[in-house]
Amino acid sequence: MIGIYLHIPFCKSKCGYCDFYATASQTLVQPTVWAMLHEMERRKNYFAQVGKNPSEPQKFTLYVGGGTPSLLPPDMLAALSQKAIATFCAAPPEEFTVELNPDDVTPEYLQALRSMGVNRISIGIQSFFDDDLQRLHRRHSARQAIRSVQLAQSAGFDNISIDLIYGLPHMDCERWRYNLHTAFSLGVQHLSAYALTVEQRTPFGVLRRKNRLPLPHEDEVAMQHDLLCQMSAAQGLVHYEISSFARRGFFSLHNAAYWQQQPYIGIGPAAHSYSGGQRQSNVASCAQYIKGMEEDAAFFELENLSAESRYNEYVFTGLRTVWGVSKNYLLKNFDETLTSYFFAGAGKHIERKNITVDGDRIAVPESRWFVADSIIVDLIWA
Ligand code: SF4
Repeated sequence: MIGIYLHIPFCKSKCGYCDFYATASQTLVQPTVWAMLHEMERRKNYFAQVGKNPSEPQKFTLYVGGGTPSLLPPDMLAALSQKAIATFCAAPPEEFTVELNPDDVTPEYLQALRSMGVNRISIGIQSFFDDDLQRLHRRHSARQAIRSVQLAQSAGFDNISIDLIYGLPHMDCERWRYNLHTAFSLGVQHLSAYALTVEQRTPFGVLRRKNRLPLPHEDEVAMQHDLLCQMSAAQGLVHYEISSFARRGFFSLHNAAYWQQQPYIGIGPAAHSYSGGQRQSNVASCAQYIKGMEEDAAFFELENLSAESRYNEYVFTGLRTVWGVSKNYLLKNFDETLTSYFFAGAGKHIERKNITVDGDRIAVPESRWFVADSIIVDLIWA
């Protein structure tokens, strides 16, 4: 699988918890789209350069994320996606996802997406309570959230993902149960559910420092996580990654490829690319990114990934998924120092049942995913 990611770094306003690179100023939308088209041209040989023979049969995924891709008019989105497909895909993408904000969703916009080949949409709903949405500084209402899913279904989309957040200020299990119940009653195929993380440099970070963010106790958040697992399982959804739940046949191919160390290219300001041996990070500034394109100058940082970095990436991402990590892969790809380190660290967690072993697969069971990061940290090479 080969992944292509287009980052649209614009939002009409910034949400209080958001730490992504996205700007509320719209003045650079057009030049940024021009620069992204230019970046694709400059990097058209990327996959060949990283050892992926373009003539070999491959599968492709295209993901347009942000920011808020649905802030772009359809003709700009079409120009970007057509250029991406023509430049990097030898076959139509197996999965073509666009992220949408509920207040941007209209029948016309959805039809435009369908005609450009989009076959999966991801809607940033976060909560079905208006007071939560206001506290999060989201632009949409609960009614718009429900309506956006219904409109997408009426437009013929049968692979719809929504995002929800638990552990919000003032949230208890009953409110979270209502959010999950509403999501499932809409019949979406995929749910991404995240525990709120409060980053220092966000407005939420400021509120927390001033003791003005009434977050639920961590035991309450753990109960919300358990409720999420129980209610999703009762709906027949597979919990296939810490934050990802889906009906069979609807796992995110694009994200699964990330977690399985497949190469991908990221186009746009602040986008990342990964080739196996190197990671490229585009500059997180529209102005500098555009300047880099205008002057044919550097617009990214390149990191040569050491064996330790590749090991950390493999362990960190693998153990957050239902597939875990492969013993054979570890032995084949890393030296004795790293593999011994892994097996020594994993041993004590196997005894505590924090890690299970099934043939070649070594995984953190779902019952421990809520504390997975504290398990994985013992296996990360510092
Ligand atoms: S819409 Fe998404 S990317 Fe934009 S500010 Fe809100 S959370 Fe961040």
